[in-house]
Amino acid sequence: MEVRIIVETIFENGTTKRHRLGRLSRPFRRTQPEGFGLLLEDAKSILGQLQNVILLDQIEEIFEASRICPDCDGVRAIHDYRSRVLETFFGRFQVKAPRIRRCVCNTKSDVVLGGPLSPLAHFFSDRSTPELRHLQAEFGARHSFREAARMPKTFLPCAKQVNTSVRKRLGKVAKDIDDIQQTEPLGAAALEDASALTVFLDGAQIRCKPEYLKRHLDVVVGKIVGHNKCRRFGLVQQAVLSPASQLRQDLCALGWDHRQTVTVISDGEPALPKLVRDAVGGRVRHILDWWHISMRIQHVENAVKGLLQIRGFSGIPVLFKRPAETLRWYLWHGKALTATTSLQWLMVDCARLATDDRVATEAARRVQARCRDLYSYIASNMDNLIDYGQRYRSRGLPIYSSRAEGCVDDIGNTRMGKRRRMRWSPRGAHRWPLSVPPYSTVV
Ligand SMILES: [Zn+2]
Repeated sequence: MEVRIIVETIFENGTTKRHRLGRLSRPFRRTQPEGFGLLLEDAKSILGQLQNVILLDQIEEIFEASRICPDCDGVRAIHDYRSRVLETFFGRFQVKAPRIRRCVCNTKSDVVLGGPLSPLAHFFSDRSTPELRHLQAEFGARHSFREAARMPKTFLPCAKQVNTSVRKRLGKVAKDIDDIQQTEPLGAAALEDASALTVFLDGAQIRCKPEYLKRHLDVVVGKIVGHNKCRRFGLVQQAVLSPASQLRQDLCALGWDHRQTVTVISDGEPALPKLVRDAVGGRVRHILDWWHISMRIQHVENAVKGLLQIRGFSGIPVLFKRPAETLRWYLWHGKALTATTSLQWLMVDCARLATDDRVATEAARRVQARCRDLYSYIASNMDNLIDYGQRYRSRGLPIYSSRAEGCVDDIGNTRMGKRRRMRWSPRGAHRWPLSVPPYSTVV
């Protein structure tokens, strides 16, 4: 069979135009599985032609309409044609954009003021369609620039892209978002949501460009969650004049009113809550992330399990089993002091066992080390431990900084890190997370 593709344009003035986009040949006697239905290559070529037809017809319609003088209804003369390139997802097109002479109807003399009018000028800003710019920025935010430049070409008839233009477009989108943020007035709705703001914070390291003479850049990423809204942010402290004031803007955008207390959930790294403390001028409630505590408890539990499973273990099992089992319960219910006492007992018993029992020395030392790790983690964060059970179960409030870690995953692993080997300048890295959708979303 033969498939003919014909496109019909109906202009606003009622005239129609038909375009033949070509034909597909599918002789049924020779049909192979790989020639069944519409193929990607056919689709690309059809889409490219279709885009061309739509563009040319649109230009024609806009041009014809703008030739009519709005004052005297006369037809204005064509001054010249300018060649313009337009980059779209469906190909790169060189089009002729006409310019029109001004009409003399409004002037007393025959002298016309001002140059020719260009009715299509604002369609060719940045030589590309907004759709292309935004999708490229999105791909650029999620993958390496090279990959982002290459990917669309696999499925679409777009022209070959270069990684530098992806980078520039991403930078521009990020800058626009930054500008909007700084000028955005506070909405009334935002003020209502301000009842409880929680900031989830985490840090990550990304590779730095060689000219900055250091290996890594520290990135702070996080999420601010309000009543029914949230906002992701990321910043590289070296790249901004005042990281605190940037964070303050983000908080204000979610309705922070300079008075209420902000809750911060992060791991034990003191620089993270300090950033929020600087941003809000003091009133911060810092909660140690439960996940980080839980992991350390698990290390103790596993080490004790390993100790008890040793053949010929000579100690009294319950002395080790009991404290290990209760640790989690105590910490979950905010009884940190009792937990530290259990830990101390466990450490003392392990020390005794390590000297008495030759078989279990190594395992006992391991338990001791894990206990010491948890003990010092709790001790140095004592002020930030809460009754997690009550907060989580009874009040339904978050206790994990995993939401921030999700952002870190985006940056640290998929995007900037291990496998992709991208290197960043502080400025480039600072701009990056801004453009990752959903930058600001309703939850
Ligand atoms: Zn006129």
